[in-house]
Amino acid sequence: ESSSDDSGYEDFMREMSERDEKINSLVNMGFSEDEANRAIIRCGADADICVLVDSVSASRVAEDCHSRNLSDHQVTDRCFNSFGGRKKARLMEESRKKRKRYGGGGQGNRPSLDGSDEESMPLPNPMVGFNLPGYSGSSVTRMLSKLDTGPPFFYYENVARAPKGEWAKISRNLFDIQPEFVDSLHLCAAARKRGYIHNLPIENRSPLLPLPPKTIFEAFPHYKKWWPSWDTRTHLNCLQTCVASAKLTDRIQRALVSSSNPPPKSVQKDVMDECKKWNLIWVGKNKVAPLEPHEMELLLGFPRDHTRGVGKTQRYKSLGNSFQVDTVAYHLSVLRRMFPNGVRVLSLFTGIGGGEVALHKLGIHMRVVISVEIGEASKKIFRSWWDQTQTGTLIEIDDVKSLTNDRVASFISQFGGFDLVIGGSPCNNLAGSNRHHRDGLEGKHSALFYDYVRILNFVKSTMAGRRM
Ligand code: SAH
Repeated sequence: ESSSDDSGYEDFMREMSERDEKINSLVNMGFSEDEANRAIIRCGADADICVLVDSVSASRVAEDCHSRNLSDHQVTDRCFNSFGGRKKARLMEESRKKRKRYGGGGQGNRPSLDGSDEESMPLPNPMVGFNLPGYSGSSVTRMLSKLDTGPPFFYYENVARAPKGEWAKISRNLFDIQPEFVDSLHLCAAARKRGYIHNLPIENRSPLLPLPPKTIFEAFPHYKKWWPSWDTRTHLNCLQTCVASAKLTDRIQRALVSSSNPPPKSVQKDVMDECKKWNLIWVGKNKVAPLEPHEMELLLGFPRDHTRGVGKTQRYKSLGNSFQVDTVAYHLSVLRRMFPNGVRVLSLFTGIGGGEVALHKLGIHMRVVISVEIGEASKKIFRSWWDQTQTGTLIEIDDVKSLTNDRVASFISQFGGFDLVIGGSPCNNLAGSNRHHRDGLEGKHSALFYDYVRILNFVKSTMAGRRM
């Protein structure tokens, strides 16, 4: 049906095949057909492939920012870099208003979007808690009422960026004690923004020695060789529970192999967006890869091979949920002087034992640990570590729901009380990456926080009644 002398038709055909070719290339790079089509509609079929790649990445980042509710400063930076015109202006205006409301950032002078979610509980910037090694800034003094000081001491942890008002609610349930927000980035080579509510003294803390590696190159000097100069990261983002697919890392390698050296800015930006989002590191020429579980163990302060013995997916999952040991150890270090003969610990949501590994590394003997953890893989990891390193008594309970007050009472009689009630309840309904179930503390998983509160209150009142 074609008529070769119909030049309009030929133009149309040429444009269509050019369009198909571009869609094909984008699909081969790992984008979906739908994303490719939308980029062509936005930029035109004659746009250069790099421009199209940039456009798809920008819209992914935009979606990502919205879904994560600006949950991470690097994402925020990327939003500002990628959004054009109106959206950028609107975000800037919102951030300006918020900074004003919080008094221009009394905790630090660098303007940031930190705290944009937390009207009633702004996050400090820098996020170094009440104090941190190497940050001598204005140190905080705090007064706890006699009723709130230990024993028992308690230590509760959750993600810093919970939906608006959630930390205020957590604090209300934990004796109105001010949360200590820390980004572990200030202590080690990976970010981890967490809030901690505890009644531990905050003076005379001491860090674990040797201090953990502070930068990516300190942690992994052998990757320096492959690290391109245009990747200026010094720290990794928060270690997550899942890692990038081989499809993505292949796509990045192909894009780089077919680019000049250094690659064009648009390719650099696309690659960097993915590297930051997925914490990819340079393990070969043009070759990025996710961290191996043992590398995550190192960054989080666990012994090498701590999680070995369960499947790789389980290792990533449990590491992604765990404490950063050096950070928690810094806070717990004050217990060493108070309990020279060791501690009796009620460990709720033990996971892979970040709290216990911290106590052990501090040289604090655990006389007893009642460990409450439901995950089979985490239990296995924790038990195996315990058997290799500890001499105290370990009692394991699967579900926090089955730890009734009666059972707690009988443990208190048996062991004479607890010195520390420690735990970080699941963050599934609080964390930014889970947009479908981000229904706050009342969400199915996060509501387990109230079991922490129930058990802590019961321990406190029972021990006060018995003057332990
Ligand atoms: N602080 C821990 C990790 C806490 S993550 C660490 O350092 O590894 C929250 C943990 O709560 C997860 O390990 C999850 O398996 C556990 N959990 C979830 N529901 C539970 C329940 N009903 N009872 C006990 N533990 C539960």
